Formats: sequence, C-alpha cells, structure tokens
Amino acid sequence: THFGFRSVPEAEKQGHVDAVFDRVARRYDLMNDLMSGGLHRLWKDALIAWLAPPKTGAGWSVLDVAGGTGDIALRIAEAAPAAEITVLDINPNMLDVGEARARKRGLAGRLTFVEGNAEEIGLPDQAFDAYTIAFGIRNVTHIDRALAEAYRVLRPGGRFLCLEFSPVDMPMLDRIYDLYSFNVIPAMGRLVAGDAEPYRYLVESIRRFPDRETFAGMIEAAGFSRVSYRCLSGGIAVLHSGWRI
Ligand code: SAM
Repeated sequence: THFGFRSVPEAEKQGHVDAVFDRVARRYDLMNDLMSGGLHRLWKDALIAWLAPPKTGAGWSVLDVAGGTGDIALRIAEAAPAAEITVLDINPNMLDVGEARARKRGLAGRLTFVEGNAEEIGLPDQAFDAYTIAFGIRNVTHIDRALAEAYRVLRPGGRFLCLEFSPVDMPMLDRIYDLYSFNVIPAMGRLVAGDAEPYRYLVESIRRFPDRETFAGMIEAAGFSRVSYRCLSGGIAVLHSGWRI
C-alpha cells in the first residue's frame, strides 16, 4: 500500500472522511477550481442542465446530499427561483462555509442546511421531487444504503442525479490522469492548503469507486427505473440518472 489510509477499516472510514473535510473546508472551493482546472464548474452546470429544475411554480423540492459548501444548491437556487432546496451534509464545517456563501449571495432564505448522514437521512419518506449528490457518494461507506435512502425520500416521479468521478479507462488519458492525480493534486494540496494527505485520500477514493456500468446496476438494484448515464470530459466525471416511478 502506498498510502496509509488504504488500510483504514470500514468501521473507521466515515471518521476518516470527516477529518479530511474538516481539514479542507475553508480551502475547499479554491482547491476544486485549481485541481480540476475549473472543469468542476462545467460538470456541475451539466448536472443542473440535465435536472432541468422547473423555473416557475412553487412546491418543487430538491434534496442535495453531501452538499458541502453549497455549489449544487446555489446553482439550483439561481436556475429555479421557486425551488425549495435542502442541503444535507455530515460535516458541519462544510455546511458553515455553504451557509456563509448563501448569505453573501442573498440566497440564505431559500436554502435549508441540515447536518446528516446520506446512509440514514433523518427526513420523511417521499418528501422530495429530486435528489442530487455531487462528488459525495464515493465518500459514503455503504453506497447501497445511501441509494436506498435516496429512493425512500423521493416521491414517485422523483429524479435521482449523481455526479461523480469515474475510474478512467481510456488509453493514454488514464496514464496522464494517474500522473496528474497522484503527483500534481497532492502537491497542489501541500502548496495551497498546507497538507497533501487529504488530497491523496480524494484521489484514492476515486480509484476505488465502481465503474459506470457497475454503478448504474447498483442504482437499478436500489429500485430506480430508466437508469442512464452521461460521460463528461472523456469520462473523468460521470452523471448518473434514475427515476422513482
Ligand atoms: N457536493 C459538493 C460539491 O460538489 O462541491 C461537496 C462535495 S465534497 C467532495 C464531499 C462532501 O461529502 C463533503 O462535504 C463531506 O462532508 C460529505 N460527506 C462525506 N460523507 C458523507 C455522508 N456519509 N453523508 C453525507 N455527507 C457526507
């Protein structure tokens, strides 16, 4: 094992993930821009475009899980002025940054921030029209539990959308990507955030995430219908979609 966290036992994974995001919360948005060369903005815009939240009409509600500093929620708030938006994250430090950003943009009244675990969302059944999760599901210890919870909180007719990094399998691109991930990203972490370790964790967690077909199968196994996906930037990131019918 070339990274210490590889041996982190399952029971300790969440604690490890929480420590990582405690350490990066304040620098999270800057690091996202630096590490992805700004691409994460395009990928998030692609999620909002596919979600197509209704621009008018009250009562449409969305739950953004692992919402962190609010990137997805703020985009939805701007695209859909009537949408009711709840941001759920396990890490209060990430949520604090998100709340401050929402206040700054005058959107605080539109967003509700909730501390909670994707594996056990403390919210009622069938409460939302859409469930989004961006770069969150790979941090969750039991993906199947998170998917079951997504299904539970969605109304029939509700939409599931997940944006996540995907293991790259394109020849050449995978080499470049590995070189970039294992060398450039931790080095940037050290330079900008003063710490390489959390960024090593992030890179490694991408490696271990199931490939897009396997993940699509897991979404179907959770009960979702019409599951499909779109590859972004040569498959570095993938958007998965499903419907609760
Ligand atoms: N969605 C945001 C974005 O795209 O910028 C934040 C993504 S950030 C890479 C991952 C987030 O997942 C962190 O804020 C972390 O606290 C949260 N997280 C990790 N494990 C979680 C869990 N079990 N339940 C809910 N959130 C979790």
